[in-house]
Amino acid sequence: MELPCVWLFFIFWQEECNMRILIKNAMVVDPPRKTAVRDVMILDSLIETVCDSSGGSGSSGSGNFLPEPDRIIDAKGMLLTPGLIDVHVHLREPGQEYKETIETGLKAAAKGGFTAVCPMPNTIPVNDNAQVTSFILSQAEKVKGTRVYPVGAITKGSMGEDLAPMFDMVKAGVRAISDDGLPVENARLMRRALEYCKSLHLPVLIHAEDKNLAGNGAMNEGPVATRMGIPGIPNAAETVMVTRDIELSRLTGTPVHFCHISTAESLAAIARAKEEGVKVTCETAPHYFSLTDEDITEYDANYKMNPPLRSRKDQKAVMEGLANGTIDMIATDHAPHHADEKNVEFDKAAFGIIGLETALPLSLALVKKGVLSLEELIVKMSKNPAKLLGINNDIVPKNVADLTLIHPEQEIVIDPASFVSKSRNTPFGGMNLQGTVLMTMVNGQIVFQGEEL
Ligand SMILES: [Zn+2]
Repeated sequence: MELPCVWLFFIFWQEECNMRILIKNAMVVDPPRKTAVRDVMILDSLIETVCDSSGGSGSSGSGNFLPEPDRIIDAKGMLLTPGLIDVHVHLREPGQEYKETIETGLKAAAKGGFTAVCPMPNTIPVNDNAQVTSFILSQAEKVKGTRVYPVGAITKGSMGEDLAPMFDMVKAGVRAISDDGLPVENARLMRRALEYCKSLHLPVLIHAEDKNLAGNGAMNEGPVATRMGIPGIPNAAETVMVTRDIELSRLTGTPVHFCHISTAESLAAIARAKEEGVKVTCETAPHYFSLTDEDITEYDANYKMNPPLRSRKDQKAVMEGLANGTIDMIATDHAPHHADEKNVEFDKAAFGIIGLETALPLSLALVKKGVLSLEELIVKMSKNPAKLLGINNDIVPKNVADLTLIHPEQEIVIDPASFVSKSRNTPFGGMNLQGTVLMTMVNGQIVFQGEEL
């Protein structure tokens, strides 16, 4: 009686696990390897072969015999990159599922080409203990999509008073720590956190903001804020904390990573620190190179985020920082909010915008403008984030098949109504851009597929 069941299971297992997919004629962008047209065979969860493209069908192009693939994807004219990794998202679960859930957030990530995301700990309750970390990972496991590398809190409840139990969180699966949303105001406590993280080899992601300087500011301090009658946040609110934590990194020898850098002065400080050998890295978000405070018209709170959209001078510095390598990564700071939290007076509205479904075309615009090469862009959206998290995502045989397939030329109009995220808070609606995600593959499984594929 039991035998047929076992047999059925075996057939199922065979189908699930021995799937061979050939992506042929793709322009493989995987720096530092040379960009070239290649055929990439995926077997089960791993990359099996990577060969110069034969232009033919089915074969690996190497002359070696390989079994026929179960599926062939002709990727002529498309870019195949190591999966994009976003080191800074807010998935809102547990606690604020009306804004986003882990399921909707991961679907948005997969649609945006991301094979892994790092959710910040400012959930309700805060991810400051192993139970919350385990819950997040178990919810992500059910989705079977984009990978989740949870970020644990630096301090209990991100209150800035007592260190969170980092070792327990690491055992539960935390891959970095941050009190994002809030700074650690007590420099002595931050020093202790850095000393502790050094022994755990745990990346520290810093939300650099002096809360007293930021005060009740709602946008960038400057002529635009004055004209609009909205309280401003000075550049120095970011830069003084960047400067402090560079010094704490120098003191402790612990690497630090600065989140969402927005000011020219912060970038000058980070560039100097790098020259001096202090182990700092940083990210910016697409809105800081795509927009300035001058774009804020009609008091639309979809332009409100923290740090705020800065001046043209800062935007120029961000572009230069991307081009000269001071900025290591592009991260979205995907921050979903319900429409009711945005449809209020500008200074009362919630801070933050979503970004997972718009990051790639906004960032590809940098390549079109000649700010970055395609390879440099993939370094900032995939290779450097992987390095920060201690992951090798090279497109080479035997490596895990986490891949993104991109149509770089396809024109799109950003349509918030088409988002799979639960929220719609974006300033980019209606914008004409180029570049769509055709396929996102995680662990050899296709977790998102565009209609065009
Ligand atoms: Zn932040």
